Amino acid sequence: MANVYFIPIDTINDTAAVRQAAVDILDRMIAAENIALKKFVPLKVHFGEKGNTTFIRPENYDGIIDYLQERRIDSAFIETNVLYLGERTTRTEHERLAKDHGFTRLPVIIADGEHGEEFEWVEIDQKYFKRCKIAKELARQKQLIVLSHFKGHMLAGFGGAVKQLAMGFAARGGKLDQHCNAIPNVKQWKCKTCGFCAKKCPADAIVMAKKARINREKCIGCASCTAVCPYHAIANNFLASISGSFFGRLAEYAYAAAKDKSVMYITFAFNITRDCDCAGHSMRPFLPDVGVLGSTDPVALDQACLDQIEKKVNRRVFKRGRYTLEYAEKIGLGSRNYHLIPLK
Ligand code: SF4
Ligand code: SF4
Repeated sequence: MANVYFIPIDTINDTAAVRQAAVDILDRMIAAENIALKKFVPLKVHFGEKGNTTFIRPENYDGIIDYLQERRIDSAFIETNVLYLGERTTRTEHERLAKDHGFTRLPVIIADGEHGEEFEWVEIDQKYFKRCKIAKELARQKQLIVLSHFKGHMLAGFGGAVKQLAMGFAARGGKLDQHCNAIPNVKQWKCKTCGFCAKKCPADAIVMAKKARINREKCIGCASCTAVCPYHAIANNFLASISGSFFGRLAEYAYAAAKDKSVMYITFAFNITRDCDCAGHSMRPFLPDVGVLGSTDPVALDQACLDQIEKKVNRRVFKRGRYTLEYAEKIGLGSRNYHLIPLK
């Protein structure tokens, strides 16, 4: 059974406490799990889309950076490009945004090249994928610290360590592979024929006729149009995602991402919004801050985050997306059973 280390903290505004909690958890995990740090240990992060105000800010990672530097371990912030059109679509834009958002203490590595085209195949021989397109520089790493923000997600239900592995480690083609059945619907009665979605569609899949229409052969399921429509006329087709086993595909990509690696996962359960940090606008958290959790098992860690939130609000949260953890457990990524070790 996996260990999950937990330090409850009531607000992310207490940056000193959050920063220290992350170090304490990392230190305890390294000692308890007999982890030998390598000479280079990158931090997998999410820089937050431009306009997003609830991503985990870099000052919360300062303690971990100090910890590595005191031990003469080299590091970098490592991340992949996104599928949709935004400020993180290319390496050049992505590096600029990382800097703007304060990720300046370490070098930045965009692991899948300028346009997300650089990847290595990772063989997994599972139900949906025989092999996965993992971003080249991430595929090459033998050891990482994966820093995740636990929050909601439009398609996946919620996002934590498993989602960070699945989408966060995949090169652009791998992200497409995971999304491929998630074709949105245009609510014709809401469409004002402004054409904005067609201009933003990276696959040239929206045809403007009397109303906007999505060409299902061309659509890559990036969900970019659902974000840009000013009239909320395009909705994600969750049923298609579910019937298309989107959750299973996520789990298999997460499995590929972590394969043959030593990974330490630390998750920040703060600023829990309904949508993820790829949303380029400000959102209000809808659940209370919970604290910092860590594990070497991403499935146990996500399950523990859900359990701690539910304990705090005394009701079930994030009903959708739990199949990802179930399936991830089935294919051997981790276990939903865990031993919780509170450190404070
Ligand atoms: S952005 Fe929205 S309203 Fe405008 S054409 Fe597309 S679906 Fe219609
Ligand atoms: S139509 Fe498909 S490819 Fe185009 S923006 Fe929408 S989801 Fe993305």
